[in-house]
Amino acid sequence: MRIKPKKSLGQNFLVDQNIRNKIINSLELKESDIIFEIGAGRGELTALIASKVNRVYALEIDKRLLGILSGSLVGYNNTEIINQDVLEFDLGSFIRDRGIEGKVKVFGNIPYYISSPIIEHLLEFHKYIGEIFLTVQKEFGVRVAAGPGSKDYGSFSCFTQYYALPKILFDISKSCFRPSPKVDSSFLKLEIRKRPAVNVASEALFFKIIRSGFGKRRKILRNSLSGVVDPQVLDRFFSGISLDRNIRPERLTLENFAFLANLQFLRKKA
Ligand code: SAM
Repeated sequence: MRIKPKKSLGQNFLVDQNIRNKIINSLELKESDIIFEIGAGRGELTALIASKVNRVYALEIDKRLLGILSGSLVGYNNTEIINQDVLEFDLGSFIRDRGIEGKVKVFGNIPYYISSPIIEHLLEFHKYIGEIFLTVQKEFGVRVAAGPGSKDYGSFSCFTQYYALPKILFDISKSCFRPSPKVDSSFLKLEIRKRPAVNVASEALFFKIIRSGFGKRRKILRNSLSGVVDPQVLDRFFSGISLDRNIRPERLTLENFAFLANLQFLRKKA
């Protein structure tokens, strides 16, 4: 029976065998690897991965695909299908309950419209993960990997780079998928850092300052942070670093944001 792809679930299936192989090669799979695949779909990639690793947990939300998925995995006793929404999947509890040791790898050819929520959700479990590999919309990948000074650098780049080192491995043309999406993709690797990129006294405050700083992009940092950071703290910040007082948020490094957040934290405590 042919199953009509659901647009609402981002069902653009990867059909290009060269790109499938390229993805499998870039995952650098080892026999000991434990893989979590997000959106396993019909399971073509899942089976390729299963033939090379210790175990694959294949998450798929769409019940209609489960029959085809389990059909693709016949003979692979090292696989388990989990019929769940990834955004509701508690990876940490699952890993603890199963007694899984060592860091796991996460892979997914995921729906574009939930790329940021998926990354945010996965990074909550950063201490259990070694690497995350995702197929994302090309422009989104550029934003995740952008650094200070780039027009694409923003609060999501900072959030991701606090936990991970991003790298765009290669681009994938929209013609490699069926049905073909409107946009091209990139294959993105997030190597999870052993510890976050910078030391902050309060992550909540650090991310709040970053979000507010980038909230009004055309504004200079001083103005977009009024109400969030005390004026005296901003004065101390600007005298502590050799940067223009009219600087825009996109020029600030994670270290700069951390310095600012820690100054504000100390001020609030005093
Ligand atoms: N892995 C297959 C491939 O490469 O051809 C399918 C990829 S398709 C782009 C995305 C898959 O993610 C679909 O099978 C879809 O049903 C599934 N999906 C969508 N939203 C999901 C969610 N929230 N949790 C888990 N799977 C989801």
